[in-house]
Amino acid sequence: MSEVCFGVDVGGTTVKLGLVDSEGNLLEKREFASPKDPNAMFDVIVSHMDQVIVHYPGIRCMGAGVGVPGPVIDEAMVRSCSNLGWGRVMVAEELTKRAHMNIKVANDANMAAMGEMWMGAGKGCRNLVMLTVGTGVGGGIIVDGKILAGALGGGGEIGHIPLHYHPDWQCNCGKYGCLEVTASASGIIRAAKQYHPFSEMQDLGAKEVFEAMYAGDQHAREAVENAGKALGEACAILACVLNPEMFLVGGGVSAAGRALLDPIEQSFREKCFPPCANVRFARATLGNNAGIYGGAALFFAH
Ligand SMILES: [Zn+2]
Repeated sequence: MSEVCFGVDVGGTTVKLGLVDSEGNLLEKREFASPKDPNAMFDVIVSHMDQVIVHYPGIRCMGAGVGVPGPVIDEAMVRSCSNLGWGRVMVAEELTKRAHMNIKVANDANMAAMGEMWMGAGKGCRNLVMLTVGTGVGGGIIVDGKILAGALGGGGEIGHIPLHYHPDWQCNCGKYGCLEVTASASGIIRAAKQYHPFSEMQDLGAKEVFEAMYAGDQHAREAVENAGKALGEACAILACVLNPEMFLVGGGVSAAGRALLDPIEQSFREKCFPPCANVRFARATLGNNAGIYGGAALFFAH
């Protein structure tokens, strides 16, 4: 009998839900708007799972791996999800009550890293770090095949490593000088705007900064390179603590390609403790499905 499980990626605006078999095949995928109320959220997730599973008679469902955008404790409870307006929610208990299956909960960025390890760019690795560079800088750390969540679920929050490239820029977390203020899309835009004539443009996005860079704009290039340098320095710090096999870079900003990856690697090589420097860098490959695969990986990756 073939074994399957659900991967559920709960985001601030949408939920992505997929049925994945133990070989890593994504059999069916659904996407729907995120209800803000936790009870409504759990009801709609279970209703979709019920609708999907009837298409696959004769399979054995092992459970569901659920990613939520907040710090998760004991694969069960989230302490808060600011972009859903949630406080402490017993996610595993509530879903088990409704779905009568084994539920494992993880932070969404950590779960994406598990997905990349199992079926993406990190296949074959047991120790890796994934940096998700988008609106913010998220991260996931996998040690010996398992998520490093830490005592209170705050493990892997790489974006808040204090680096002080811009010591007077305040981060969303309230602190100053976090990696995220330099290396996120908003940080890159802010840096590019400081010098550039298009600083009057209100709707300048990361895409426009990349376009300006490819068209030869030096300030746009510096903004992207500076983000890469900061990320590389963060990787050097992480490498001498974790000694990973691989760093993966995902998220919208990773679309900058070599223009971002080269300065990351260069800055890493300059700063890394030599015995920990034998690390591969690559772009993540699963895109928006990383969370779904990661949910399944909580059951199937060994
Ligand atoms: Zn911060």
